[in-house]
Amino acid sequence: MGGGWIEQFADAPDVLKSAPDQKTVVWVRGVAIGGGEFVTMAGPCSVETERQLMETAERVAAAGARVLRGGAFKPRSSPYAFQGLGLEGLKLLAAAREATGLAIVTEVMAAADAPLVAEYADILQIGSRSMENYALLEAAAKTGRPILLKRGMVATVADLLRSAQCVVSYGNPNVILCERGIRTFETATRNTFDVTAIVMLKEIARLPVIADPSHAAGRRSLVPALARSAVAAGADGLLVEVHPHPDEAWSDGEQSLTFAEFDAMMAELAPWCELRGARSCVPETVA
Ligand code: PEP
Ligand code: MN
Repeated sequence: MGGGWIEQFADAPDVLKSAPDQKTVVWVRGVAIGGGEFVTMAGPCSVETERQLMETAERVAAAGARVLRGGAFKPRSSPYAFQGLGLEGLKLLAAAREATGLAIVTEVMAAADAPLVAEYADILQIGSRSMENYALLEAAAKTGRPILLKRGMVATVADLLRSAQCVVSYGNPNVILCERGIRTFETATRNTFDVTAIVMLKEIARLPVIADPSHAAGRRSLVPALARSAVAAGADGLLVEVHPHPDEAWSDGEQSLTFAEFDAMMAELAPWCELRGARSCVPETVA
């Protein structure tokens, strides 16, 4: 792995591979993330209502998702936009887990909230806007829950690995890296999906790597093809936004898949997973 190139990642020694086949498998409720199964995490951008969340949880589980996503604390760029249901949202997520068996991933925005969010969630999401909030990284790491660390929208791969190193340095080795698109001069899409980062991270880092095609694209029509490219690039899973009625979503409706679109995407991904040698993401009955 020599060659000088790797030296720019020298600040993150405990997340780099020390042997080519070294890997951290993150176990969440019996699901091994980074362990050979392609793991899909799906659900609404924001938890809105009990009905919205339950319907979505049931449908994404039936289509092969293993983890339910949904924001209860939302990082919104406008103070007048919906900020999330907070504790009420966490309770709805826990009820959806109870009903479906899906594990839960949800964002924690403030260090002070970390213990509360960890009471309800199986995985704590650190959002793009928080990737360099070191007090938050410390508080989230110290809950002991696995951390889903999203790449900052202007963060290099080295920056992402430095933040992962922070979490690991607080005694929490269970970090999942997430490529969700970066800012470039291109404005036709919400962000630019950096598929190279996935390939590179799989080569140099021992941590699982997942892709979020929803926030990368910003448009639902582009999501399935980006998801396929993530499988081809070697990602360990996906984080995808799905909503029963995307046009009525309280946040990120334009990029959220309908149930039918999610079903189709999952069925389409199965042969790509197989081709790559990853265990399929879709139950036999759906594929
Ligand atoms: C989200 O997952 O809904 C989210 C806010 O993502 P990001 O931090 O990548 O913008
Ligand atoms: Mn969103």
